[in-house]
This record gives sequence, structure tokens and C-alpha cells, in this order.
Amino acid sequence: MRGRLIVVSGPSGAGKSTLIREALDAVPELAYSVSATTRAPRPGEVHGEHYVFLSREEFERWIGEGEFLECAEYSGNLYGTPEAKVEELLEAGRSVILEIELQGARQVRRKRPDAVMVFVRAPSLEETRRRLSGRATETAEAVETRLATAVGEVAARDEFDFEVVNGDREQARKDMIELMETIIGGGSDAERS
Ligand code: 5GP
Repeated sequence: MRGRLIVVSGPSGAGKSTLIREALDAVPELAYSVSATTRAPRPGEVHGEHYVFLSREEFERWIGEGEFLECAEYSGNLYGTPEAKVEELLEAGRSVILEIELQGARQVRRKRPDAVMVFVRAPSLEETRRRLSGRATETAEAVETRLATAVGEVAARDEFDFEVVNGDREQARKDMIELMETIIGGGSDAERS
């Protein structure tokens, strides 16, 4: 049986990556779609594992060749989901998580109406700022840009099928895992929140 396409989006600093990592560890049917980006690697990021790191020129060539299911510019860098790999995983029966920002999420929803849309957010904007500021890898300017984007993104939660509020860490981990299992097991009949 073909897997489900699961879009996980939400403001930067909401804790999407951690929740996704925990869900991937707990639910073997899930696979992660590795995105391409023009952003510089952060310390510890591995090419092909966290992202495929491309020059802007290479990225634009991939766009021209129709490689992307969706792509968008975010904080001055390009990000995109390579389509062939996603298809391969879905065909193999895996459910595939795309961790992408809002513009990309909207593109996927238009192109793949059967995709399940999951919104992850911090309990408050103050908490988002605290989390973004705590990232040693970001400059103060980058934090402000991301925070401004986050304000707009929170307003988009109504466009999603499900929401996970990442307040209490352990509760959010459980909620995310349970939601993924419901989506995979429940097909299109999964109860919408
Ligand atoms: P970061 O630079 O912090 O890794 O990612 C910045 C934002 O880009 C995050 O919101 C992340 O979810 C999003 N992002 C990562 N990969 C993709 C992608 O392939 N497409 C889109 N549209 N956004 C992505």
C-alpha cells in the first residue's frame, strides 16, 4: 500500500525538527524527506543527511529541470523538496514527512490534495523568541527576521488539518507520535482536530 505524504510546518523555533526526529525514531513506517538548500551548513550538519547543500546556481538548475515537488525562499535562502525520492518512498509504502515552511506547504497542498497537513507551534510568541535566541548558530538579525516570519506563520494554522502545540516537551512528543500513528493507520478517515 502506498504511504501517506505528511507535511509538517510551522514557525521557526516551534521545535518541528526535534518532534520529527522523535517520531521517526518511534514509528518505523515513517521516512524523512531530505531537502535541498542554498543555506550554508551549520556545524554538525551532514550533506545528504540534514540537507543536500547546493550553490544557488545548482539549485536554480534543479528548478529548471523540474526536480522539486515544491520550493521556496526563506530568510534569503532557497529550500526545496526533491520529488523523485519522495515518490520512491511513497511507492515503497513508507509515509514521508516533509519539514517545510509555509509557502512550500501551500504548494504541496495544491499539488497533492491528499497530503496530510500538520502545524507545529510553540505555546506563545515569547517562547518562540526565547528558543530562536537560544540558537548560538543564528545572528541577532537572523533571529529577528525569523521571528517576524513566525508572527505571520502562526496566523496560517487554520490552513492545516492537525495542530501540535509544543509546550510541555514530553506531552508534545507523545502527541506527535500518536498523531503520526493515527495518520498512517487511519487513512483519510483519521479524525481531524
Ligand atoms: P533551517 O534553515 O532552520 O534549517 O530551515 C528554515 C526553514 O526552512 C524551516 O522552517 C524549514 O522547515 C524550512 N525548510 C526546510 N526544508 C525545506 C524545503 O525543502 N522546502 C521548504 N519550502 N521549506 C523548507
